[in-house]
Amino acid sequence: MQKGFVAYNNEQKSLEAETEGIKNSQTLIQKAMNWFSARSMFVVAYGTGCGAIEMPPVFTSRYDIERLGVVGVATPRQADIMIVSGYCSLKTLRRVIRTYEQMSEPKYVIALGSCTINGGMYWDSYNTIKKLEEYIGVDMYVAGCMPRPEALIEGFVKLQESIRNNTIQPGYVKYREDYAYYQANQEKLLGKETQPVYEEDYAGMNLS
Ligand code: SF4
Repeated sequence: MQKGFVAYNNEQKSLEAETEGIKNSQTLIQKAMNWFSARSMFVVAYGTGCGAIEMPPVFTSRYDIERLGVVGVATPRQADIMIVSGYCSLKTLRRVIRTYEQMSEPKYVIALGSCTINGGMYWDSYNTIKKLEEYIGVDMYVAGCMPRPEALIEGFVKLQESIRNNTIQPGYVKYREDYAYYQANQEKLLGKETQPVYEEDYAGMNLS
């Protein structure tokens, strides 16, 4: 009986050690994945509001953010970062939602400028939104009107740090898990057509 108990104990310990080993290697893989994600950011080439003017110097030779592993791409399906670079009219918001939903996970959003935080100087406008985070997941706000390129770079550095250290609660997870909340906000503002209906643009055209 005693022998059987010792054998059971030993087996249990070896199983625990094995599980611990798997956990450690998973942690190592996760750490590597986080590091790679932080150092290869593909930003969808899209701009709205005044911030669209501040972005080109960040991506070109003046500030050259490619040094930090940040590059632009033409399509949302290959991108993992979207910069919403200023005020969003209702018409623009539909495009922002469409673009955000087309991006695959993991994906992150940087909201640039006061207009995305509280409406900024358009706080009482009838056709611009006040808080971007009510409509899509937002991971980083960069305050200012308009933030300089250095501030946007600082935003990228902070985002990279939090991805690398796994201290971020990604907006896309919240968007996925709490979709009813976002959908209700979107519909309250935009009605049932929360995304542009491109099919209507082509109605009656022979595209074959
Ligand atoms: S925060 Fe200022 S600079 Fe940025 S979009 Fe709004 S008004 Fe323009």
